[in-house]
Amino acid sequence: MTDTPAHEDAVSRPAAQDWGDWRKQMARRITTLEQLRAWIDVTPEEEEAILRCKGRYRWSITQHYASLMDPHDPRCPIRLQAVPGLAELTPGPTATVDPVGDRVYRKTNRVIHKYPDRVVFLVTAVCPVYCRHCTRKFHTTDQQGTYFEEKEARSFEPDFAYIAAHPEIRDVLLTGGDPLVYPDEKIAFILENLRAIPHVEVIRIGSRFPVLMPDRITPELCRILEAHHPVWLNTHFNHPKEITPASAAACDRLLRHGVPVQNQSVLLKGVNDDIDTMRALVHGLLKIRVRPYYLYHCDDVVGVSHFMTSLEEGRAIMEQLTGFTTGFAVPQYVYTTDLGKIPASREVLHRDALGDVWVENYQGQKRNLGPVLR
Ligand SMILES: *Cc1c(COP(=O)(O)O)cnc(C)c1O
Ligand code: SF4
Repeated sequence: MTDTPAHEDAVSRPAAQDWGDWRKQMARRITTLEQLRAWIDVTPEEEEAILRCKGRYRWSITQHYASLMDPHDPRCPIRLQAVPGLAELTPGPTATVDPVGDRVYRKTNRVIHKYPDRVVFLVTAVCPVYCRHCTRKFHTTDQQGTYFEEKEARSFEPDFAYIAAHPEIRDVLLTGGDPLVYPDEKIAFILENLRAIPHVEVIRIGSRFPVLMPDRITPELCRILEAHHPVWLNTHFNHPKEITPASAAACDRLLRHGVPVQNQSVLLKGVNDDIDTMRALVHGLLKIRVRPYYLYHCDDVVGVSHFMTSLEEGRAIMEQLTGFTTGFAVPQYVYTTDLGKIPASREVLHRDALGDVWVENYQGQKRNLGPVLR
């Protein structure tokens, strides 16, 4: 540690035009303390966390995401999501590695089948940035952990065969890790194999690349996705700072190729757990034509639980959005369990003991609608 801010004498902080194509950007991710000092004043706490996470939790940060970090403020919402923190190493007493039971529902190396008509397909365990709050932290970030029973490199044939053998599966959600870490040819291979199964109607990709490394969303990739429609993409913006011209352009490329882009954010303490931030996020998303889909209550995951808010805090934010802004700016607030995702917003319509239906609107006005249909 020195008294001079480390970033001032740093050697390598290239400008965006020198980052290279997405493959180079993957290779040039920030993975050492020394590299990180080129971007931010690393605090003693961050330094200790990085040293103590060694051998336990991976970390890596793309140049694009690092460029969004406030070099002087350790409470910057981008830093909190990307730079290891000491709290990761002291999990809450009730935290587990897989509270939602993904591993229980795993049917093949890659297929998680929890809902009858749709599956999660774990393409990989690799991500461009290892988000500190990842709900699959055990799979992606934990150096000892993985949901894969066999090696990631294993053939995809058994996974395709499982889906082909289950005609009730009409929706396949490619995720990981981040499926778009793979080269275009591999993505085309996966999409072709899924499209060869007649009952697969919808393919979804869960990817944070539009936020973390927008240059990955190349015209070539978009053409591959377009050739296998309907393909939807769900991304993961958590804070309005993440909505940049580059991320907007990446979403625009997807949209122009007919890929609807939706957003799944996680309610994170210190990052986006206040109404002003959340309102700016959802309004910013509408401006780039990305529809807020889910707001996840943060799961009680080992190494993540320090990001949890209370359910009441989440509901209070939802109540300040619902009715006060555009209907489709409001995500569905959900709590994930081993039984699936459970809507977590406050109950605003109920039947009383006499059989009458009561509603309460966004301003708290109540009305008895009578027996409605019974
Ligand atoms: C979230 C999830 C899905 C998809 O759920 P939707 O509500 O359709 O977005 C499917 N399978 C598993 C295991 C999931 O966690
Ligand atoms: S990109 Fe998604 S899967 Fe990867 S670490 Fe972040 S939250 Fe987890």
